[in-house]
Amino acid sequence: MNWLKRLFTPKRCYVCGQKATNPQVYLDDQGKKVYVCYKCVPYAERRALRKP
Ligand SMILES: [Zn+2]
Repeated sequence: MNWLKRLFTPKRCYVCGQKATNPQVYLDDQGKKVYVCYKCVPYAERRALRKP
């Protein structure tokens, strides 16, 4: 049932905390996967979040 859970778990934007629309995957400073909505991508780049 993991796929079902994944389907219905909304991804939250790491920057604004809202439900991420078109989430982009970034890595935080601990190397953890985080999601950033497309609106916050420029902010994520400034915060030096890395692409996986
Ligand atoms: Zn956002």
